[in-house]
Amino acid sequence: MPSNIVIIGGGHAAAQLCAGLAEAGQGARIHLVCEEAAIPYHRPPLSKTFLKSPDETPQLHRPEAWYAENGISLHLGDAALAIDRAARTVTLRSGAVLGWERLVLATGTRARRISALDGLENVALLRAADEAVRLRARLAAARHVTVLGGGFIGLEVAATALALGKQVLVLESAPRLLSRAVSPELSAHVLSTHRAAGMDVRVGVRTGVLQVDGSHLTAIEVDGQPQPVDLLLLGIGAVPEVALAQAAGLECADGIVVDAFMQTSDEAILAVGDCTRFPDQRGGTALRLESVQNANDQARTAVATLSGAPRPHDAVPWFWSDQGGLRLQMAGLVPAPGTAGASTVRRPGASAASFSLMHYVDAQLRCVESVNAPLDHMMSRKLLEAGRSPEPAVAADPAVPLKSLLA
Ligand SMILES: Cc1cc2nc3c(=O)[nH]c(=O)nc-3n(C[C@H](O)[C@H](O)[C@H](O)COP(=O)(O)OP(=O)(O)OC[C@H]3O[C@@H](n4cnc5c(N)ncnc54)[C@H](O)[C@@H]3O)c2cc1C
Repeated sequence: MPSNIVIIGGGHAAAQLCAGLAEAGQGARIHLVCEEAAIPYHRPPLSKTFLKSPDETPQLHRPEAWYAENGISLHLGDAALAIDRAARTVTLRSGAVLGWERLVLATGTRARRISALDGLENVALLRAADEAVRLRARLAAARHVTVLGGGFIGLEVAATALALGKQVLVLESAPRLLSRAVSPELSAHVLSTHRAAGMDVRVGVRTGVLQVDGSHLTAIEVDGQPQPVDLLLLGIGAVPEVALAQAAGLECADGIVVDAFMQTSDEAILAVGDCTRFPDQRGGTALRLESVQNANDQARTAVATLSGAPRPHDAVPWFWSDQGGLRLQMAGLVPAPGTAGASTVRRPGASAASFSLMHYVDAQLRCVESVNAPLDHMMSRKLLEAGRSPEPAVAADPAVPLKSLLA
């Protein structure tokens, strides 16, 4: 274990890395540098329960005292501005200069913005806790909520707003919701469920020309028609935060490029979480994923590398999204539409609102998308981890527990 490790970023990957290094217990001095002033906290509740009650506070990964007890110095509210690879230092906005033997970048992503909307009072982004606090206050005062973007965060906020009694309009330019992450069958189910609940969801729309009055956005144009705006959430995706890595000359390609051990193009520097592009041991391509599981698993791989017991990263990706009455859980990566040999079977769940879509390529199980079927999701992860591919007809039979197919 190196004696001095600096971690840049204070999100899920960084928090998991701290926990893993503390557990490895080999006495490294650790510095955690984060531009956010908050003690590392969980982001998923920010688009869900956090928005529902003014009493909710961010859920911390660990209490503040835990970091000091484990030899971890927190540098919060202080961004890392520059890495000197030759001198092995990092300079912070405060002027502090930290030396390191190994450096880990866990800089995550930033919400994609529309520059014409920057600074407007009734336009919100959601990535960090302070943005969630602002959104919560605006949501309480708004009657109509417009969400630009039908991705996970946009739909989660839309479902939360609907539950709060708001009129909700979701605008998605792609022909279907969640198009980058789920199958067309699941997209269709999500669309019909939200519409049935009273959400106005429009896909394949063109949005444009904005009307601004002082510091307020008053209307946007949707398919040529003006659409008044009360509160607008921008949920149009995220971009990996690679500026620091790029300036330090590390290889980047829509993410900081790492190998299977989370090492960047400079072996002394690792990167973990949403900001990385990493080799997919299963599919042979390079991936960038934005999920808690990916951040946690990559942090574990990095701990192994830093501890001198490297093992290649080989996790089955999984993620979840709670949208009102929909609990979506995905294990594996859905084959791209049009993949040769791709087929899907539907496994019914305990109720009409519960099922799993099991996606195959030839005879190989590649991905399972579960809707309100947590047990099938858990078992599907185990099947994928074990490389098991039950016969599609058997997998689709609800009388056959997936657990029995693991034996
Ligand atoms: C509202 C919301 C809901 C979500 N819900 C889910 C969900 O239901 N399920 C799921 O699987 N995933 C969900 N996610 C995604 C999940 O939170 C991310 O995948 C995860 O946080 C990634 O962890 P990370 O550590 O890589 O990045 P992040 O958690 O984004 O942390 C990166 C940190 O680095 C800091 N940073 C960046 N640059 C610098 C710098 N130069 N100096 C210092 N600090 C810097 C940032 O400020 C940030 O604090 C959600 C995300 C959001 C925003």
